[in-house]
Amino acid sequence: MKRQQYVVIGLGRFGSSVAMELVQLGYEVLGIDRNEEVVYTMGDFLTHTVTADATDEEMLRSLGIRNFDCGIVAIGDDIQMSILATILLKEMGLKSVVAKAISTLHGRALEKLGVDRVIYPERDMGVRVAHQLVTPNLVDY
Ligand code: ATP
Repeated sequence: MKRQQYVVIGLGRFGSSVAMELVQLGYEVLGIDRNEEVVYTMGDFLTHTVTADATDEEMLRSLGIRNFDCGIVAIGDDIQMSILATILLKEMGLKSVVAKAISTLHGRALEKLGVDRVIYPERDMGVRVAHQLVTPNLVDY
């Protein structure tokens, strides 16, 4: 069976962590970031890395992004970039698109674009930590 292929857009703390863990789990991951240094650093850990602006539609098409099984938009601070990159992934017809949000309103905008899952890293981690604190033996990933 073909291994699932993931594309992670934005290799900050969240994006790089998701991308590296997917590789550890045995999946193919293409990491994209506009910051050359970040891409260089991640080159050793991911299947493929590319320095590109996630809103460059031609570039995304030339990378064959539509053939990936899942896209993760891990740009947070720049909401405009997050939304534009998400629209492009949705339009390209990826089976699944997941996006990080930094606020409820950002998350609502992403939901309106039809993303399959919105992730609020700090909020979600806070909930997990609370559960781990009250259930110390909980096996959790
Ligand atoms: P994190 O909390 O995950 O570390 P951050 O808050 O430090 O993220 P973000 O603004 O969320 O930073 O950006 C995450 C990454 O996305 C950065 O490495 C940044 O270079 C990259 N990025 C931002 N905009 C674009 C874009 N248009 N195209 C490609 N990469 C981008």
